[in-house]
Amino acid sequence: MKNAIYPGSFDPVTYGHLDIIRRSASVFDELIVSVLNNVKKTPLFSVEERVKILEKATEDIPNVKIESFSGLLVDYARARDVHVIVRGLRAITDFEYELQNAQTNRLLSKGALDTMFFTTSLEYAYLSSTTVREIASFGGDISGCVPDFVEKMIFSKFGIPK
Ligand code: ADP
Repeated sequence: MKNAIYPGSFDPVTYGHLDIIRRSASVFDELIVSVLNNVKKTPLFSVEERVKILEKATEDIPNVKIESFSGLLVDYARARDVHVIVRGLRAITDFEYELQNAQTNRLLSKGALDTMFFTTSLEYAYLSSTTVREIASFGGDISGCVPDFVEKMIFSKFGIPK
């Protein structure tokens, strides 16, 4: 079985992430989308909330499974017997960081873990979770960035009635 892990913060999941999930799920038998539990960041949504949001946002894609992990990605991938990581590339600014991560993961896994990149669909090239959080914190329009139910949850986090 060909499976892959798509790791990320997904705080919150955007249409950009969902596009990468949909496209990569059509390439693999199973795609594990996994929320990184990064203790160094203060997230808008807890890991549990992000898992629930991702489950709902991907409920129509049968071969997608949502999980969370902490620690090294190589250890998590080994435990799941997965050898491919999926990541999205928006612009040249993503490239350097992603290249470094991909090479580090190959090294740490002794060549057992490779990274496959999906380039962003042009309409989502500008989109990031950080931008969405920023716009929403000022009550701006994020309807083109995230699904409706996520939009409601974000505004309620910021205490903004919509
Ligand atoms: P990070 O893991 O750096 O916190 P995210 O969780 O926001 O980043 O994103 C996870 C992955 O999804 C990364 O590979 C990122 O480049 C990719 N990604 C994020 N937004 C988009 C987008 N709009 N289009 C394509 N890929 C994206």
